Amino acid sequence: MTTHQRDIAASIDPVKLDRLAEAAVRVGLNLQAGQDLFLTAPVAALPLVRRVAEHAYKAGAGLVTPILSDEEITLSRYRFAPEASFDRAPGWLHEGVARAFAANTARLAIVGDNPMLLAGEDPAKVARASKANSMAYQPALEKIAGFDINWNIVAYPSASWARQVFPDEPEDVAVARLAEAIFAASRVDLDDPVAAWAAHNAALRSRSAWLNGQRFQALHYSGPGTELTIGLADGHEWQGGASAAKNGVTCNPNIPTEEVFTTPHARRVEGHVASTKPLSYQGSLIDGISVRFEAGRIVEAKAARGEEVLNKVLDTDEGARRLGEVALVPHSSPISQGGILFYNTLFDENASCHIALGQCYSKCFQGGATLTPEQIAEQGGNKSFIHIDWMIGSDRIDIDGVHADGSRVPVFRKGEWA
Ligand code: ZN
Ligand code: ZN
Repeated sequence: MTTHQRDIAASIDPVKLDRLAEAAVRVGLNLQAGQDLFLTAPVAALPLVRRVAEHAYKAGAGLVTPILSDEEITLSRYRFAPEASFDRAPGWLHEGVARAFAANTARLAIVGDNPMLLAGEDPAKVARASKANSMAYQPALEKIAGFDINWNIVAYPSASWARQVFPDEPEDVAVARLAEAIFAASRVDLDDPVAAWAAHNAALRSRSAWLNGQRFQALHYSGPGTELTIGLADGHEWQGGASAAKNGVTCNPNIPTEEVFTTPHARRVEGHVASTKPLSYQGSLIDGISVRFEAGRIVEAKAARGEEVLNKVLDTDEGARRLGEVALVPHSSPISQGGILFYNTLFDENASCHIALGQCYSKCFQGGATLTPEQIAEQGGNKSFIHIDWMIGSDRIDIDGVHADGSRVPVFRKGEWA
């Protein structure tokens, strides 16, 4: 660690950082005594990784195994690695991770990379490397998407990310501001984060219980550039906040989280929709997206910025043009009110109603744990190598729930719960 990095780390409140580690272990993962933990993080997040390891072992973790990534090493690959290597990924590593998940290892991802890291690299190489990695990661991703084990994502305010979010501030100020924004959104600025999360989870649970009671067949969205009907999957179930993984552990997969979400029907989406916030995807910014759906499939896609990247994403596989998630977030959510664009889905998706292209979550079905992949597909669940959230909510969006008999119930008005 250089002197400079030590100075930057000093702008992060150590008490709140420790609470974030504790919240990740006790609330996010709800790590069980004897359970192993596999975690990934950028090297810059080492102070948080160390706090997490301590809290994990105090909670009775068996083995904590971290894998750290480094931005400079990632860039070296794009600049110097042989051309043919961009269609490869360390499958042996992902297979090992899948085996660890099968043996009930919990999974923590600490995010904090510069969201624009790959912005200057060849988009074709970025797309190839990403596709190769997605394919190799599939055996492990299935266990995460299928919610076999307890998992959690939290964020660390790294300097390279902070510079993107607050480009006009000196680095130490940018890091301090990003740190405070992360801590507030993650509810660790409060004295008792574990109690705060219990109350927040109860509020999200009551929203999803209401939606589950309604059993809407579709949601209809209208707003500027948007006239969209999203059919919901047969036997869909709304989820929000904490929920139980198949291994029986109740956990909070995302910290922060403000959304309630479910599975749309992959073949029953009609109309057009415009994005309301930029999407940061693997170092590229895609902005001003507008797409048109026919029978669940995107048949027309435009973007004011990053259209080439968007079209590459849509061509990943057949499921990449169909929806795998629909999520409701009020415009008054604390993350939205902060007014910060984080360039990171974990935060930006919790500022706004969103939809996701690609893979669905099998836990968003009634009895999801017992359904086969074939049954999920038949009920309208989508399958893809990708899962990419993008924001379609604003204070000008209205959403109606549509019942099977065509009757409508207001769900959102001007971006708020009706
Ligand atoms: Zn979501
Ligand atoms: Zn999502």
